[in-house]
Amino acid sequence: MSVTTTTTVLRAEGLSRVYGSGAGEVRALEDVSVEVGAGELVVVVGPSGSGKSTLLHLLGGLDRPTTGTVHLGADPAAQGPGAVERELGGLGEDELHAVRRTEIGFVFQSFGLIPVLSAAENVEVPLRLARVDAAERAARVAEALEAVGLEDHAEQRPYELSGGQQQRVGVARALVARPRVLLADEPTGQLDSTTAARVMALLRDLVHSRGVAAVVATHDPELVAMADRVLVVREGRLVTV
Ligand code: ADP
Ligand code: MG
Repeated sequence: MSVTTTTTVLRAEGLSRVYGSGAGEVRALEDVSVEVGAGELVVVVGPSGSGKSTLLHLLGGLDRPTTGTVHLGADPAAQGPGAVERELGGLGEDELHAVRRTEIGFVFQSFGLIPVLSAAENVEVPLRLARVDAAERAARVAEALEAVGLEDHAEQRPYELSGGQQQRVGVARALVARPRVLLADEPTGQLDSTTAARVMALLRDLVHSRGVAAVVATHDPELVAMADRVLVVREGRLVTV
């Protein structure tokens, strides 16, 4: 499915990332530029070691590029700092933390759930960090669990859930704070192929219905079919397909 891009939410220009120096230098990413619009699902494919995780870390402000820039587009609905375009490299650590907490949702291959917390409590974590009040937290957690079909599993702990259910908790947690950007690094890497396809379809539907700009890395070619756009990375560079 193709989507008409109206608003660019995430824009990266000329991103490079070099790890180490001298003889141990690794050029993990070289001159990558990409734009992602609201409601667009971009899938990044490439073999292991090609630079997918490096790209996601830079896009999400978890790591800083050696060269290049990452911009978060102006949010027409925002009152505060989000009302104007910002370059992540121009933000201080506190501002960058705030951006990661409120404007970017992350989904991890290993789910990243806290084992002693229930599904609902895991989903609630980003709202606690954003100091959302208790009544609104409860409402938003319930809504997020319902969106991923887990309303009947709210009190269960991660070990009482299947892998697919755990990752649906991960998706609910990533979206509960209503971020504008969703980044997922091999979110289905630990799931069997049927479950992987279901989780990916759920991600796609939520991205489209909520107008989130999403970048999902995978090396599973079957998941590529669900993308609005596919980026192929090889040896740190975007390859045209
Ligand atoms: P992918 O996610 O596609 O498997 P990565 O982005 O993890 O690829 O890695 C790209 C390249 O950068 C690889 O050669 C990897 O070994 C290297 N690399 C990744 N992270 C680091 C790091 N922290 N220090 C040194 N090299 C790294
Ligand atoms: Mg990776």
